[in-house]
Amino acid sequence: MYRSFMIYLSEAGWARGMVTNWNFAWRTAKRFVAGEKLEDAIQAIKDLNDKGINATLDHLGENTTSPAKAQKATDTAIEILEAIDHAGVSSNLSVKLTQIGLALDEELCAQNLHKIVETAMKHGTFVRIDMEDSPWVETTLNLYRRMRADCSCENLGVVIQAYMYRSANDITHLMQDQSRVRLCKGAYKEPAHVAFPKKKDVDTNFDQLTKQLVDASFASGSPHISSDGKIPPIPAIATHDDQRILFAKNYAKKIGLPEKALEFQMLHGIRRDLQEQLSSEGYPVRVYVPYGTEWYPYFTRRLAERPANVWFFISNFFRR
Ligand SMILES: Cc1cc2nc3c(=O)[nH]c(=O)nc-3n(C[C@H](O)[C@H](O)[C@H](O)COP(=O)(O)OP(=O)(O)OC[C@H]3O[C@@H](n4cnc5c(N)ncnc54)[C@H](O)[C@@H]3O)c2cc1C
Repeated sequence: MYRSFMIYLSEAGWARGMVTNWNFAWRTAKRFVAGEKLEDAIQAIKDLNDKGINATLDHLGENTTSPAKAQKATDTAIEILEAIDHAGVSSNLSVKLTQIGLALDEELCAQNLHKIVETAMKHGTFVRIDMEDSPWVETTLNLYRRMRADCSCENLGVVIQAYMYRSANDITHLMQDQSRVRLCKGAYKEPAHVAFPKKKDVDTNFDQLTKQLVDASFASGSPHISSDGKIPPIPAIATHDDQRILFAKNYAKKIGLPEKALEFQMLHGIRRDLQEQLSSEGYPVRVYVPYGTEWYPYFTRRLAERPANVWFFISNFFRR
């Protein structure tokens, strides 16, 4: 009920208009967002890199409403790839396809994605296509496959959400060409005919999908993370859930997958203790570092994940 309401708010224009005008809301959002400018994000990444942790950088924005805005988002993604190279930081890029035009025109989005992937290849870095809500899953996977075939490269990966019933089947297909997959639980409100409504079932499926990824990685020679930290291994287990992480570690150990072939990913501002602990155990750790002015939907989804975050939000109101 709480989660559904918060996710409804994340999509409500009236709430966005109101909340983004509150200074204390931005103060709270800053726990999860590196800042409004690219320099802020690069600085956050430098701090992570100093601790041996890699990053994936995201310019916040989704559901772009005009081709000109989709073009601008594409130009920004290219700028980010250049800035990563220029700053010499260990980071790759995450993009949402609706930000670069998927909701407007699939071909326009394909062209924009193509430009981004070409730039990534030029700079020897990697692009992860984030996964959005269920109406976009099929098209996102189709575009991912098309780009991989076009570039025949390792520079592109995708995300699978454990709450979706279809995910085991999607991973089976993605493993045919050793795709690099970020596995997460799923952040949107989905109907019961497409996604498991109960958290317990999502968690069970998460472990099953982890097993599938770890097995597939082992079968294809356990590719390690690249030495510069930019190109991730096949399984990237994106969660802050101790039990899911323990399962992944134990299963990988059991079948003999080396630490460097199993990445853990977390969100900026969440479970820093765990990020550092996993890194000290020898696993590659990557933090998702978002920046920009379009922080409202991302921030509200973070509130949806944890009711205690609302108290943090309210306490910032009283600190005005
Ligand atoms: C690197 C990364 C990339 C992601 N990319 C996508 C994507 O492309 N598409 C998509 O749908 N979703 C994405 N997500 C979000 C994901 O689907 C979940 O919504 C989110 O990670 C919370 O689930 P959890 O696995 O941490 O487990 P949960 O069971 O929700 O949480 C486990 C524990 O983690 C901590 N925790 C979790 N969330 C928070 C929070 N917001 N604030 C404070 N503590 C918290 C708490 O201690 C909690 O008890 C991504 C997540 C990560 C880490």
